[in-house]
Amino acid sequence: MSRDRARGIEPLLNRGELRLSRSACVIGSGPNGLAAAIVLAQAGLQVDVLEAETTLGGAARTLELTLPGFLHDFGSAVHPLGAGSPFFSSLPLREHGLEWIHSPAPLAHPLDDGTALVLERDLTDTKVALGADGEAWVKLMRPFVEQWADFAREVLRPVLSFPRHPLLMARFGMTALFSARTIARRFRSERTRALFAGLAAHSFLSLDEPLSGAMGMLMAVPAHTVGWPIPRGGSQSLTNALCRYLSMFGSTLKTSSRVESLATLRNYDLILCYVTPRQLLKIAGERLSKSYQHQLAGYRYGPGVFKVDYALNCPIPWKASECLRAATVHLGGSFDEIAASELAVRHGLHAERPFVLLAQPSLFDSSRAPEGKHTAWAYCHVPNGSKIEVQEKLEAQIERFAPGFHDCVLARRVFIPADLESMDANLVGGDVAGGAMDIRQLLFRPTWRHYATSAREIYICSASTPPGGGVHGMCGFHAANTALSKLGVH
Ligand SMILES: Cc1cc2nc3c(=O)[nH]c(=O)nc-3n(C[C@H](O)[C@H](O)[C@H](O)COP(=O)(O)OP(=O)(O)OC[C@H]3O[C@@H](n4cnc5c(N)ncnc54)[C@H](O)[C@@H]3O)c2cc1C
Repeated sequence: MSRDRARGIEPLLNRGELRLSRSACVIGSGPNGLAAAIVLAQAGLQVDVLEAETTLGGAARTLELTLPGFLHDFGSAVHPLGAGSPFFSSLPLREHGLEWIHSPAPLAHPLDDGTALVLERDLTDTKVALGADGEAWVKLMRPFVEQWADFAREVLRPVLSFPRHPLLMARFGMTALFSARTIARRFRSERTRALFAGLAAHSFLSLDEPLSGAMGMLMAVPAHTVGWPIPRGGSQSLTNALCRYLSMFGSTLKTSSRVESLATLRNYDLILCYVTPRQLLKIAGERLSKSYQHQLAGYRYGPGVFKVDYALNCPIPWKASECLRAATVHLGGSFDEIAASELAVRHGLHAERPFVLLAQPSLFDSSRAPEGKHTAWAYCHVPNGSKIEVQEKLEAQIERFAPGFHDCVLARRVFIPADLESMDANLVGGDVAGGAMDIRQLLFRPTWRHYATSAREIYICSASTPPGGGVHGMCGFHAANTALSKLGVH
């Protein structure tokens, strides 16, 4: 396909808006970096992407981490916000090789009695599955499920922006500001409360903190709309599709190009840094005002993760066979157990029985492992920068719901937070969300300026900016648009 046929170019040409004399440098090729590079390229800028690692994609890479032929997602594995991203959805990524695979159900949550609660994609099916709590679940989720497109645009941008759907957002705010524990009180059954706890624990907050409930809803609503899909071939397929589309605009992508200082870059009109505040201070320090440097220095990182990738000789032998219907399985038991696990981590401790997020992609995507073999991806939250290996505790949680799991393991690759950071400098202390997401850093992420910095041409744009962590590209999309409007292109 020729460059001019790239979607978005023709309308710009017609409006005479191509400005190839302007140039931008994007530092980092994670999903946010690639999203921004595409927005800038669509607006007609010459874009160079510089990536420190040997492979593009940041935390959206798929690598042979254990044995030959076993493909593991280094970072993101399951992509509700990737499939539901307003920006990614506007791009012809399917034409560039991206295929979303949906497991029959988005999520399973096994319990000690040998059964599992399954979150179905269809809201009516979920209502049936949740029995006495079905009605309450539907009442909580339906307004946002029915207006998903508007809702996604609202929640995937800075919170302080003027809402385009004030009633919808007021409704969300009234519920979501509460803690997960408060929201879970709507449910009569301990089983439903446990399911909600697992969803809310994605927040890295204590389940008694405000906003933890919001995360529960932000995970559940897409499960009932766009689903929790995995890309065929792994998250690298999303990265590759974004790169292929980007290269149609003539943009350049350079790997093994770590930027140690912005002083080494030639004169670009814009420099978009897909790094976290600590790294920005290091590479841009002198070019930033003292007061802005001070604000960045006050930015707080969240807990880290301890991750294990497995090569398996068979599917995981779940006690509850329903778990085989879902690509994602939450292992933590009851609401109180999951709450205790997350509270320990918030207090800088290691949970005795950690809440484990597990993905089993090869059950639904045969390209991930040799015939008859399987992969699994599992992590739990640990204090930021923890050096302690919690493999035994993590595997005890898998064995608890899948006795005999150990016998299935052909090989494993263990990552403590420092290992993750050594493969992606943005994972500071193993923080996969680019910084803590409490009320202060929800509103001012990383500062009140959001994407802009004290230097006119420099922008910060990683998951440390709104709307935060996850593969959705919306930090990059908004940052690039902010930069373009300051440049006078929009
Ligand atoms: C273990 C793990 C599991 C996750 N699971 C999920 C999931 O299932 N679903 C989901 O949606 N999200 C998940 N995430 C979160 C998600 O991957 C991130 O929030 C997302 O990738 C952030 O995108 P980004 O572009 O801001 O940064 P990253 O993807 O981290 O990319 C940053 C890039 O910048 C590069 N870089 C940094 N400094 C420099 C420099 N000085 N010079 C040049 N390049 C530099 C890095 O090498 C990296 O490639 C997970 C993350 C991890 C680590």
